[in-house]
Amino acid sequence: MARFDGKVALVTGGGSGIGEAVSKRLASEGAKVVVTDIALDAAQRVVGEIEAAGGTALAVQQDVASAEDAARVVAAAKETYGALHLAVNNAGIGGAPARTGDIEPDAWQQVIDVNLTGVLHGMREQIAAMLEHPKESAIVNMASVHGSVAAPMSSAYTATKHAVVGLTKNAAAEYGPEGLRINAVGPGYILTPLLEDNLDQDARDAIAAKHVLGRLGTPEEVAALTVFLLSDDASFITGSYHLVDGGYTAV
Ligand code: NAD
Repeated sequence: MARFDGKVALVTGGGSGIGEAVSKRLASEGAKVVVTDIALDAAQRVVGEIEAAGGTALAVQQDVASAEDAARVVAAAKETYGALHLAVNNAGIGGAPARTGDIEPDAWQQVIDVNLTGVLHGMREQIAAMLEHPKESAIVNMASVHGSVAAPMSSAYTATKHAVVGLTKNAAAEYGPEGLRINAVGPGYILTPLLEDNLDQDARDAIAAKHVLGRLGTPEEVAALTVFLLSDDASFITGSYHLVDGGYTAV
């Protein structure tokens, strides 16, 4: 029997990078996966690849900044697969680089809406569904190393990722008594389109050198930790923030 047989999972921002790797790993271990993304075609591509590999998945368009969309995707999971057990609030954006004194209020608000309020919208709906079977359920929120250290020129990103860690701890404290586990993951720099689209090779090399292991991480390395935290192997782990950062924050 596979680790997630009988489980229904929801992954936001599942059409690319870390969310794609998490979706594929969950499906490969037996979960039925609702892959959501603001870009429906990206979610559909991932679902197609999951199905081609023998897995079960559904693509749904979602803007995580929308409370209505958060409700609609959980409803889709329950209508299609009968329940929701696992969720990964992964969708996130970097925001335009600027020193703190130069951040435009609209640019700040956009990062807050997606990276922080998006996680709250998601958890509000996910928790309601999971309280039908809280001990069989778990949530992982995607933070970053910038949930604990600065990212110069990206104050909004750093603020949201620190806040996601706090939000995770609070929610875990509130729902732990019922058995629902909620954790956060803090990746170092991972080679995904988020980085590939924004950094040239010299910049990537400079960032890789900031990791003790001397390289960027892979989406699959983040997925391995994320699905561990969702699994029964992590049955005594909740309210905590787990780094997968190649030693970025160790020095
Ligand atoms: P990515 O850009 O490869 O993928 C993000 C996906 O989210 C895309 O498919 C995009 O369409 C989708 N998305 C963007 N805005 C959305 C919205 N409003 N609603 C729904 N979907 C939306 O990024 P990634 O590198 O895989 O990052 C995933 C998460 O991991 C983010 O929260 C990011 O902050 C975090 N993270 C990434 C790194 C890294 O180095 N790549 C490091 C630490 C943390």
